Amino acid sequence: MVFTESTTQSKAPGRRVAIVGGGLVGILAALYFAKRDWNVELFELRKGTRNQASFSQKSINLALSTRGLSALANTGLNLDEIVLNFVIPMKGRMIHLDKGELRSQPYGIFGECIYSVERKALLELLLNTTKKFTNIKIYFQHRMKTCNFDLGLLEFENVAEEIKVRYTADLIIGADGAYSSVRSQLMRVVNMDYHQEYITHAYCELTIPPIIDDKGDLKFAMDPNHLHIWPRHTFMMIALPNLDKSFTCTLFMPNENFDAIKTESELINFFELYFPDTIPLIGEQRLKEYFRNPRGSLISIKSKPYHYRNRAVIIGDAAHCMVPFYGQGMNCGFQDVEILDSIFERFNVTAFRNDDSLDLDLALKEYTKFRHEDAMAICDLAMYNYIEMRSSVVNPWYLIRRKIEGWLHWLFPTIIIPLYTMVSFSTVRYSDAVRRWKWQSLLLNVIGLIIGVVIALLLIFLYKFLCRYI
Ligand SMILES: Cc1cc2nc3c(=O)[nH]c(=O)nc-3n(C[C@H](O)[C@H](O)[C@H](O)COP(=O)(O)OP(=O)(O)OC[C@H]3O[C@@H](n4cnc5c(N)ncnc54)[C@H](O)[C@@H]3O)c2cc1C
Repeated sequence: MVFTESTTQSKAPGRRVAIVGGGLVGILAALYFAKRDWNVELFELRKGTRNQASFSQKSINLALSTRGLSALANTGLNLDEIVLNFVIPMKGRMIHLDKGELRSQPYGIFGECIYSVERKALLELLLNTTKKFTNIKIYFQHRMKTCNFDLGLLEFENVAEEIKVRYTADLIIGADGAYSSVRSQLMRVVNMDYHQEYITHAYCELTIPPIIDDKGDLKFAMDPNHLHIWPRHTFMMIALPNLDKSFTCTLFMPNENFDAIKTESELINFFELYFPDTIPLIGEQRLKEYFRNPRGSLISIKSKPYHYRNRAVIIGDAAHCMVPFYGQGMNCGFQDVEILDSIFERFNVTAFRNDDSLDLDLALKEYTKFRHEDAMAICDLAMYNYIEMRSSVVNPWYLIRRKIEGWLHWLFPTIIIPLYTMVSFSTVRYSDAVRRWKWQSLLLNVIGLIIGVVIALLLIFLYKFLCRYI
C-alpha cells in the first residue's frame, strides 16, 4: 500500500493534534483543543460538510443531561439558546402500564429535567461551531488505517479520492467509537486490559408521527415532556420527543423475541398483546418499519489504560462504551473532554511546548488514573438501569422506596441524594455517586428496618391490649 504525504497539513507553529472520529465526542474535543490554540485536524470516515453531518444509523435522538450540558457550555455555546432551539425538556418518566394506564414519575422533586436532542442537530450545531476557529481543519471521508504513535504518524484512506494519505501529529486522540481503530493500534503498544460484552438484547427504532389537530396544526401524539416507557419485565419500549413533534420509539428486547417475529401478522399480534396503545399512534402501516429498520446490537466495553506516553489518548465510546439505559454514553464522552481539558490546565499543557517534555506525559497518565474508575462505574450502572427501567419502575417496593428517598432528599437535600439525581443532574464523579448511593442504601435499609420493628412492636402491643381489655 503506497501512502503519499499530506500537502494540506497546517504549517502553523504550535502543537498539532489529530482527532480520529468526528462523532459527537470528537467534534467537541476539536473545539476544546482549538480553544487551547492547538492546530486541530479532525478525521471522519463518513461524508459530511461543516453545515451538514452525515447521519449515523445509531439512535436518532438522545437524552442530554447536566454533564453533557456543562461540557457544551465550556466551549462558549449559549446554553439558553440550545435549550430554546434544539432540545425538548423531559421532566420525568411516563410509565405506560399493560392496560394503557399512565403513571408519571418525576425525575426530581425540584423539577429537574433531562433533554431530548436529535443526534443530527447536535452534530451540526457542533460542526457549525468549528467554523469559528481557523485552527480546526476537518477531513471527511478519511478512514484511519494505521498509526505509529512514537512517530506521531497516521495513515488514512481518503475514501472519496481512493488514495492513501499520511499525516503527522504531536498528539493522537481516538474518538472513533466503540469499534475504535485507534484503540486497536494502542493495544499493540500498551498492555491494555480490555473487556467487551454483547448483551443478549438488541434494539429497533420506530416512529410515532405528529397528529394534526382541528386547525390543521401538527401536535405531539403524547405528552412531549416525558420520556415514555412501556416496561414489560423482560423487555421494554421507550419513546423520546423530536422537534418535528414526532417521537422516536426504541424497542429493546432479547434477540430471540426479535427473531420470533417474522410476519406482519405476528408483529401486529405482538404489539396488540404488549403495546396496544401504541398501534393507533404508530399506525399499522408505519409499524412495518420494524422489518426495514436495522436491529442494533448493544455492547459494553471497558479498557485501561486510555493513553500511550505523551502520544495518544482514547475518549468517548472508543475508551468505554456502555449500554444506553442510563442515557449517559454521550454525556460521559462529553465529560471526558471537559476533564481532559481541566487536567491539561492543571498540568500546564500548552500548545506551544513542542519539546517532548513531561507535561503531556503526566497529564495523560493522570487522565487514565482519574477517569477509569468513573467510566467503570457508569458502565456498570447502565447495565443495572435496564432492570430498573423494564421492571422495577412498576414494582411497589421500588416505588415506596423511591418516595421515601424523595422525601428524605427534600428534607435533607445535601445528605440524601437519589442516585438518578447524582448521575443525571450533577457533575459529581460517577464513582463517588456509586459510593454515596451504597451508604445511602444501607441507611435507607436501616431506617426501613427500624420502622418495620417499631410497627411490629406497636401491633404486638395493640394486640395484647385488645386481648386484655376486650
Ligand atoms: C440506542 C442508543 C441510544 C443511546 N442513547 C443515549 C442517550 O440517550 N444519551 C447519551 O448520552 N448517550 C446515548 N447513547 C450513547 C451515545 O450514542 C454514544 O455514547 C455516543 O454517540 C458516543 O460518541 P462518540 O463520538 O464517542 O462515538 P461515535 O458516535 O460512535 O462516533 C465515532 C465516529 O468515528 C468515526 N470513525 C470510526 N472509525 C473511524 C476510522 N477508522 N477513521 C475515521 N473515523 C472513524 C465514525 O464514523 C463516527 O462518526 C445511545 C446509544 C445507543 C446505541
